[in-house]
Amino acid sequence: MPPSLASQALTFSQKLIQWYHRHHRDLPWRRTTDPYKIWLSEIILQQTRVVQGMPYYLRFVEKYPTVQDLARAEEQEVLRLWQGLGYYSRARNMHHTARLVVGEFDGNFPNNYAALLKLKGVGEYTAAAIASFAFNEAVPAVDGNVYRVLSRIFGIKTDITHSSAKREFTAAARQLIPDNDPANFNQAMIEFGAIQCQPVAPDCLLCPFNEMCYAFEHGAQNLLPVKSKKMKARNRYLNYLVLEKEGRLAMKERIKKDVWKGLYDFPLIETPQEAKIPNDLIEANPLVSWIKVGQLTVPQKTYVHLLTHQKLHVKFWQIELKNAEMSTLPEGVSFYSEAQIESLPKPILIDTFIKEQFFT
Ligand code: SF4
Repeated sequence: MPPSLASQALTFSQKLIQWYHRHHRDLPWRRTTDPYKIWLSEIILQQTRVVQGMPYYLRFVEKYPTVQDLARAEEQEVLRLWQGLGYYSRARNMHHTARLVVGEFDGNFPNNYAALLKLKGVGEYTAAAIASFAFNEAVPAVDGNVYRVLSRIFGIKTDITHSSAKREFTAAARQLIPDNDPANFNQAMIEFGAIQCQPVAPDCLLCPFNEMCYAFEHGAQNLLPVKSKKMKARNRYLNYLVLEKEGRLAMKERIKKDVWKGLYDFPLIETPQEAKIPNDLIEANPLVSWIKVGQLTVPQKTYVHLLTHQKLHVKFWQIELKNAEMSTLPEGVSFYSEAQIESLPKPILIDTFIKEQFFT
């Protein structure tokens, strides 16, 4: 039988916090109780590893040291600074929330879990993290690390992809979190999952919980947490028409509700399968005139780009206009110089392509 939670709560939290004091990484957002900086770090770190998120956090804090600074920024500037991190709706929500905090709360973040939860882009985990780290409220912050630690130690076999899982694991964590030190408890749970009880090869021999851990006792580390198979990613075939004229490229802002909204890319034709010859594009879209006006280079390479639920197969069809004239450009498309393009927010794939092919 797995150890019962309530009877183990005190020992568990004491051991965990002790472990945290000895082993935690010194990360800049852990040295502050400023809710703005904690919020910033939490938004940046959603679905992002610490090493990848760290330079972004440092850049944002340097450029926007206060929530007022972030609120004053243009959205395009915020997206440009975010470029490469993916999930751009996070950046847009973050900017929106900064403006709301300044406009409605005089620049002060709400100081409790329930009120934080009402902010755009702030879910249960993030609200709990800010409420505990900045305001010491005893509310558990439950992320993937916490699922793993609790399921392994206490033998919880609920499938973490099921809708009931969040409720169940949060209730378990609520029984364990101490009222007198919730900030360190939450930090410790997350850190323990990140560096000790890792998904693959957890360090069980040097673990302070190995005498009470269900997974260790039963050799079930690889079976917990229980997670049913992921949804298969949807394949999409994107063909970019890269119109070049006198060293400038035709680009447009993505305004539709789709991936990369608010970022800039090239005119696009999406095909049901991989397009191999110009006719495949012509069949898919009457933007054919663009192909005929200049010198077309059929791409030899397909870039594969993975998003959470989509696998993008991307081709860049380059069209050099030379002296040819475009009679009209479609709505929203304009030519941009190298310097202008540099300042536009772009998906990292587009940025890489431009740097490879045009402006190194
Ligand atoms: S004994 Fe192993 S599986 Fe159990 S908590 Fe420690 S590191 Fe994780």
